[in-house]
Amino acid sequence: MPETHRFLIMTTDPVHIGTGGMRLGRVDNTIVREPGTNLPKIPGTALHGAIRAYAARRYGKPQCAGRGGREGRKHCGRPTCPICYTFGSVQGEAGSFSGVVSISDARILLFPVYSMVGPVWVTSPGVLEDAGLGNNFTVSPDKAKWDGNGELPTDKPINLGWLMVEREDNFPSIQWPDEIPAQIRNRVVLVSDKLFSQIVNSNLEVRTSVAINPETGAAEEHALFTYEAIPRATVLWFDVVLDDFRNSFPSTAKLTEWEQVLDNGGEDEKKRLLKKRKVWPEKEEQDKVEEAISRAKSWIAEEKYSENGETKWKWTKMGCQNGNETILCLINSALEWAEHLGIGGMGTRGFGRIKKIYCDPVEVKNEQN
Ligand SMILES: [Zn+2]
Repeated sequence: MPETHRFLIMTTDPVHIGTGGMRLGRVDNTIVREPGTNLPKIPGTALHGAIRAYAARRYGKPQCAGRGGREGRKHCGRPTCPICYTFGSVQGEAGSFSGVVSISDARILLFPVYSMVGPVWVTSPGVLEDAGLGNNFTVSPDKAKWDGNGELPTDKPINLGWLMVEREDNFPSIQWPDEIPAQIRNRVVLVSDKLFSQIVNSNLEVRTSVAINPETGAAEEHALFTYEAIPRATVLWFDVVLDDFRNSFPSTAKLTEWEQVLDNGGEDEKKRLLKKRKVWPEKEEQDKVEEAISRAKSWIAEEKYSENGETKWKWTKMGCQNGNETILCLINSALEWAEHLGIGGMGTRGFGRIKKIYCDPVEVKNEQN
């Protein structure tokens, strides 16, 4: 059964996921937007790529990051590899196979703008509804709703960036996840969908940068360019759908079990195990069978590493021990690295960092063979 997990993230840097250097108006490098609402977003493909890359590097198999398929950059593509199993593999040792996660676009939930009373976070009825936080919220097209909780004035209009809006009423009552910081929750402002799109698009970061010549490390001449970015402190949400349809996720429990079958199991057991993973030879000749068994054993051995003379599972590096080696844990540990290394961006460090602030509670399910 597929399961969906909702994630909330906050940008801790400006995040720019470009459309590929298109020049539009005053900005050289525009950002990816949702058709219809024209709201910037982080495409699921960019999230998928970053999560895969950090999972592979943290786990200790950098060759399994990326798209694979290219010479020299091939995924291991083995059914014993949690990275390839999770995200899929192109032309690995066990052929090509699809992954078991799909990651949606990250969409803006709360967008920070400056006001004379400090930063406020705007959102809209359509945005809240899409994020599953309730429906039937209303607000007049040119007004706004915010709470009289002492943070924002209730007796006068406030500015949202350049735009002055009058207060219509309290912000509707919403069950925000506790993980959204109170200083954000207490400063939320509801505006109409149309106004929201205008406010977001006129308050994106526009930065100027200079292209660096990779050989000399110096700035290229005439290489000044601008790009737009989702500002820091924006809250976005995305969904991760897990569908482990093969039910063979290589947790340490599974890897240990397979290892025991290959070492001590009967011939039928070994055959069943390897056939299911397409490692069993077509012609059942003794030497081919033995070769398949020893290959599978070496694959499992490569999911371990040795440290101070002690052999450990590579899983140990993911912070997912004690029987919690799940797909969701793999994604969460990859996201921990995105807090420091960022996603996509302009190819520079310290840009595009995101912080996970919420993931819905982990369901524990009993895996079967
Ligand atoms: Zn792999």
